Amino acid sequence: MIKYKKIVIKIGSHLIIAKGKKIFSSLASQVKKIKDEGSQVIIVSSGAIATGVQQYNLPSKPKSIIEKQAYAAIGQPLLMDRYISAFRKYNIKVAQLLLTREDFEVRERYLNLRNTLNYLLKINVVPIINENDTIATDEIKLGDNDNLSAIVASKIDADILILLTDVDGVYERNPKVYPDSKIVYEVKDIDELVSKCEISSSSGFFCGTGGMKTKFEAAKICSFAGIEVVIANGLKENVVLDILKGKKVGTRIYPKNKKITSKEKWIAFKKSQGKIFIDKGAELAVTKENKSLLPVGIKKIEGVFKKGDVVSIFSEEGKEIAKGIVNFDSEEVEKIMGKKTEEIKKLISEFGNKEVIHVDNLVVL
Ligand code: GLU
Repeated sequence: MIKYKKIVIKIGSHLIIAKGKKIFSSLASQVKKIKDEGSQVIIVSSGAIATGVQQYNLPSKPKSIIEKQAYAAIGQPLLMDRYISAFRKYNIKVAQLLLTREDFEVRERYLNLRNTLNYLLKINVVPIINENDTIATDEIKLGDNDNLSAIVASKIDADILILLTDVDGVYERNPKVYPDSKIVYEVKDIDELVSKCEISSSSGFFCGTGGMKTKFEAAKICSFAGIEVVIANGLKENVVLDILKGKKVGTRIYPKNKKITSKEKWIAFKKSQGKIFIDKGAELAVTKENKSLLPVGIKKIEGVFKKGDVVSIFSEEGKEIAKGIVNFDSEEVEKIMGKKTEEIKKLISEFGNKEVIHVDNLVVL
């Protein structure tokens, strides 16, 4: 019996192009078993660029954006072709969804996406998602598929995100340098994992190989959204089924939070339009006492934002601690910050909203 009802599986590019490892057929047979138990599966697959490059036998990876976009366009249909034929053997239909950041941020687009995804699941199809690399420029790019899969998982209320890569899990130290380094199999939350791993100051997380930094970021998003994450080796036989049965494979990270509301998700994943730096008192009020952010606690702001935008709240130490929907334009916040309500009323008689960010529109990260 599988206790997870909605499962997101992310497949890394290395797995897609690994020779002779039959990742597609292995995945299809496991997905078949999961679906037979009544659970739903969504796949986030990398590998469009790598497949395109492989097709052309290029001597090195393309570097320029235009080349990457072109090889993604070449590789994406080939990639889907492999999924389609592998899943056809089990009589499972798949669908392709190519997304950018805007598809999660522009409400109408997001609602369309959510409705389509839910409908595909309802009619028993396995959605296969990738970033729309061909059109994604920096402003609209999510960046990498670890983050994309975490956002997908949290938006659709998944129960678990499985990040499949070509290493066995997260190592305490870089196994290439320290071959006797051990895998961390289970942690109560992402903070424990960070504390157990050696972190290099220059390149972020040093443990393991192959893009662990973005996997940690994905685990942070999921931790916040109340979703379990497992990082494991996709080349191991039946790895997904073993993870779902709770076996000791890969690195399992439990979430810190319980599931969060859609409004909280909306705020947390929306791109910030500005920064508000607050003092210790306001930090305590916002993070521990469940209170609104008032003008008096604000020390400085950065960026130009409008009433209704999402902004990030930073501590005195420069750490992003919360996000929220702001009640004033940045120009107005400049005028009222650091002041008490009575003082502000003398300056602006019609000062209505006492809070710069109301507690109901605020998410502590
Ligand atoms: N979207 C890219 C591709 O399909 C991969 C990005 C990633 O792996 O993070 O090639």
